[in-house]
Amino acid sequence: MVSIQDQIVLVTGASSGIGAACARAFAQTGAKLVLTARRFDRLQQLAQTLEQEFKTQIYPLQLDVCDRSQVEGVLKALPEPWQAVDILINNAGLSRGLDKVHQGSVQDWEEMIDTNIKGLLYMTRLLVPGMVDRGRGHIINIGSIAGHQAYPGGAVYCATKAAVRTLSAGLKMDLLGTPVRVSEIDPGIVETEFSQVRFHGDTERAKRVYESTTPLTADDIAEVVVFCTTRPPHVNVSEIVVLATDQA
Ligand code: NDP
Repeated sequence: MVSIQDQIVLVTGASSGIGAACARAFAQTGAKLVLTARRFDRLQQLAQTLEQEFKTQIYPLQLDVCDRSQVEGVLKALPEPWQAVDILINNAGLSRGLDKVHQGSVQDWEEMIDTNIKGLLYMTRLLVPGMVDRGRGHIINIGSIAGHQAYPGGAVYCATKAAVRTLSAGLKMDLLGTPVRVSEIDPGIVETEFSQVRFHGDTERAKRVYESTTPLTADDIAEVVVFCTTRPPHVNVSEIVVLATDQA
């Protein structure tokens, strides 16, 4: 295991679920963290807790990854010592609805495409040039098993995650010859706020998603993310699929 102490890790979607778990897991490595999401109060609370618990340095930053001009302003918004981001965790993402394509909401589709694909691209475009210039960097894209197999009502979400998978593979090709690594982590079912968001706050429907299975926890995924970033520099973990044991 290679130390990433004092490296700067930026996590998108750190206000809940897998992103918040990544923040906690990285805080224990001694890395410095830039935590981003739209719900700033949550980020501040998490930052305070982790700073106290692990004596780590954290910079919470409110950020909507769909807002291109906000993303383009991120480096200016960060104090100079925080700008040299070494590790980008492209985690912000969501699913909306579980509808057949011919009956689905165009607004839901746009939200998924804007967040899962365009948001990830904006962040990557912003931070990878600095990594190449500094000769060190790692991008971790959180995809999904949904990027490997479509399921009924999930066509648009699955398509966004298939796009993430292709973007990870393409970015890896683009960065050949540089020391910058690209990893794709594809989780199966993880119990987070994901289902609540999918069903627009219908908590009862969200709970039922986890009834017939023992889902993964956000920590299960965060552990894998940290594993990828702590391999020796010549090792690139390209892709990992993590499923719940009882998930088909
Ligand atoms: P959560 O709903 O718990 O977390 C999603 C995070 O994304 C939140 O922190 C949210 O923050 C953030 N986010 C959403 N939209 C935006 C935006 N426009 N700008 C910035 N941040 C945003 O779900 P998960 O933790 O489960 O999801 C994390 C990732 O894991 C997603 O990419 C998801 O697709 C993927 N995934 C999840 C699985 C699951 O079963 N849970 C399975 C496979 C993959 P805020 O609202 O504060 O902005």
